[in-house]
Amino acid sequence: MATALPPRERTVTMRDELLSAGLLYPSGVTGVYLRSAEYQAIADAIGAAVSRWAATREPVVMYAPPVLTRATFAKTNYLESFPDLMGSVHTFGGDDRAHRELLRRVEAGQSWSDCVDPSELVLAPAACHPVYPLCAGGRVLEGGRYFDVRATCFRHEPSEDVTRMQSFQMHELVHVGGPEASLAHRDDGLAEGLELLGRIGLDVRPVAASDPFFGRVGTLLAGEQLAEQLKIEGVATIAGADMPTAVMSANYHKDHFGDAFHIIRADGERAHSACVAFGIDRITVALLDRHGFRSSRWPASVRAQLWP
Ligand code: 5GP
Ligand code: ZN
Repeated sequence: MATALPPRERTVTMRDELLSAGLLYPSGVTGVYLRSAEYQAIADAIGAAVSRWAATREPVVMYAPPVLTRATFAKTNYLESFPDLMGSVHTFGGDDRAHRELLRRVEAGQSWSDCVDPSELVLAPAACHPVYPLCAGGRVLEGGRYFDVRATCFRHEPSEDVTRMQSFQMHELVHVGGPEASLAHRDDGLAEGLELLGRIGLDVRPVAASDPFFGRVGTLLAGEQLAEQLKIEGVATIAGADMPTAVMSANYHKDHFGDAFHIIRADGERAHSACVAFGIDRITVALLDRHGFRSSRWPASVRAQLWP
């Protein structure tokens, strides 16, 4: 395959191979792809496997839209931590005159961004964010509530690397409740998630990690997150890249979301939360790299896990 190339370029070569094979189609924008039926069938099978595993927790199962309300977004602190990754939805609300001006600009090839206004929506940066407002207003028990939630997420980080998409599918198992149960969910979810990925033939190992917080303050936040071991990623080597890639992450938020969304426990304290997130596109690409581009020819043991 791409062994003669410098390692950093191998995930770019993998992208070209996936495009040539018709598994992905280009959109014209870096890191945004249309998916073939074959590719999406694999992604859906991974999602179904995640949900079968998650079912033991009896979660509420939800399919979130690719957009998030601006009100929820503002409460998550995403703008403080990751302003460079966000995406906003803008809409046109003008009259006939404003419409004529909009069309004139488009026809002249000029910028028309000041003809549209920010709507009440942003693009969802993570699947778990719309879950927290659902927990507000009542009291959550120590044992907590579980949510199995998936969404197409957006993060503005254009890259030729096929494992770094701007628009990608994420599937999370979220816990909201007491601190001990949340931490246990993070740790058990990580261990069981790694096992699940191992059963489909991926070699994934856990590493303490930090989020890509923005700016100088962000460096401090990332340091704290690492020191407290709040985020653990499951990383795998995809396409022989020189750096392993996170295909899943397990995160303990302490009372960050409990505080932001006023989620109160039965004992009157703020709720804690944790999420175990699977990067469905990264796992799909890792499987295609590991077992080949024809899923019908994958090892029977792997197929049995994905299509039982
Ligand atoms: P986190 O919230 O930990 O940053 O993301 C959760 C998971 O989503 C990651 O472990 C990864 O598998 C997936 N993910 C994050 N960013 C990207 C991306 O740029 N492209 C793709 N394909 N997946 C991503
Ligand atoms: Zn999450």
